[in-house]
Amino acid sequence: MNSIYNFSAGPAMIPKDVLCKAQKELKNWNNLRCSIMEISHRTQEFYQVVTEAEKDLRDLLNIPDNYRILFCQGGARGQFSAVPMNLIRNFSGADYINSGYWSNCAFVESKKYCNPKSISIKKTKNNKTYLLKPSEWNISDISAYIHYCPNETIDGLSVYEEPNFHNKIVIGDFSSFILSRSINIENYGLIYASSQKNIGPSGITIIIIRQDLIGYASKLCPSVFDYNTLYKYNSMFNTPPTFAWYLSGLIFKWLKKKGGIKKIAQLNKEKSDLLYEVIDNSKFYINNINKENRSEMNVVFHLLNSELDKIFLEESKKNGLYALKGHLIVGGIRASIYNAMPLKGVKKLAKFMLFFEKKYG
Ligand SMILES: *Cc1c(COP(=O)(O)O)cnc(C)c1O
Repeated sequence: MNSIYNFSAGPAMIPKDVLCKAQKELKNWNNLRCSIMEISHRTQEFYQVVTEAEKDLRDLLNIPDNYRILFCQGGARGQFSAVPMNLIRNFSGADYINSGYWSNCAFVESKKYCNPKSISIKKTKNNKTYLLKPSEWNISDISAYIHYCPNETIDGLSVYEEPNFHNKIVIGDFSSFILSRSINIENYGLIYASSQKNIGPSGITIIIIRQDLIGYASKLCPSVFDYNTLYKYNSMFNTPPTFAWYLSGLIFKWLKKKGGIKKIAQLNKEKSDLLYEVIDNSKFYINNINKENRSEMNVVFHLLNSELDKIFLEESKKNGLYALKGHLIVGGIRASIYNAMPLKGVKKLAKFMLFFEKKYG
């Protein structure tokens, strides 16, 4: 079987080494003569898995001791509700920085729980889209928190400068950004990420929260979304998605083995530079985003002649380059190149793009 490169935006590719390890121990995990999927989350053996997963994530992201890691279900969209239910407290509203599709979804959902303010930071200058820097955000004097999304998975837009506001709680939807580069956790009150982009399989949501922000859930907040309940029960108030948790743990170990976040971040820059270089050197492929706001995770572009989109997708697939179709709402092409995508895969795509341009340009 010829191997392919999978550019899916999510659920996305998982490193081969990790899949092989999971396969090897699928039917006989830890010599228990059964699968990890078939044992109780209350066993000592499973407890060991989650303890290591938490420790490895802590090491990778350099998470300070006064931050807790919670593992939850319901995806990032679940957190669109959980965040206001837990953190609105007796404020009437919160600031929602609007940079694209997902940050707007978070804003819309929060309206069920508070009176949020949407602050648009997406601008256009000389035909280029760019995002305002945190220091230019028009934030309210009084608000429960500031919510933003550092990587807009669909729009291919990123905010790289970390928001650092005095006495303000910053909350980030890090679903397609987490573990792609180093961050200073202390800039945030809470960050969350669903697992199927830059971590592993779908089904588990990671929440990193400053300890003092736990314990303020509104009365109607479901217990499974109450950060205090999750914390008190070690993220096992209800049965957790054990396989996704285990696989995420394997991915954390893989990342450590690869040299940690610094190393991965260099590689991510190298990978995305390759594709943007091809785009910028052509009049055939278009990406109208300001260099400083281009996503390293989701490289979004379109063909000058949109009738060629379909042919590009067909031919790329024949060449073993899968799932390059842009999201329905923006069209065009999207290459999601999360941590698991090897440099080789990106090089192959860059080469294909040059070949395709020669053929049809
Ligand atoms: C994919 C994605 C979501 C939605 O995640 P679900 O797990 O499907 O709820 C939210 N925000 C961002 C930035 C995403 O990339």
